[in-house]
Amino acid sequence: MMEDCLFCKMVAGDIPCNKVYEDKSVLAFRDIDPKAPTHVLVIPKKHIESINVLKDEEKALMGEVLMAGQKIARDEGIDASGFRTVFNTNAHGGQTVFHIHMHLLGGRQMTWPPG
Ligand code: AMP
Ligand code: ZN
Repeated sequence: MMEDCLFCKMVAGDIPCNKVYEDKSVLAFRDIDPKAPTHVLVIPKKHIESINVLKDEEKALMGEVLMAGQKIARDEGIDASGFRTVFNTNAHGGQTVFHIHMHLLGGRQMTWPPG
């Protein structure tokens, strides 16, 4: 756990979250400021800042994040209609929380290109 990391505090249970999925290595919860009818953040419990610092030994863990996203999309009923998955990185990516997380957005038509 990283001190002063919001998402690590959620993993530890020190800050409440609206949990939608949890297993031994992954936690998923609803975004506090949703940008779509379904907006879930899927995170590894391990503190990793961003894609920039991902290590080879974390490849399987990030696969688990993706697989959790697959299950959540199904549970939310947006798998067939479709959804968007986003990892924001640093300033140009719009990253504001520096604990890697996958945005899972659905329940409406997404546009392209993103803003
Ligand atoms: P990003 O801007 O990609 O780093 O995404 C961070 C996301 O965390 C934003 O969409 C925020 O709305 C969301 N967020 C910030 N604080 C909380 C919180 N306490 N609970 C749930 N989501 C949060
Ligand atoms: Zn963290």
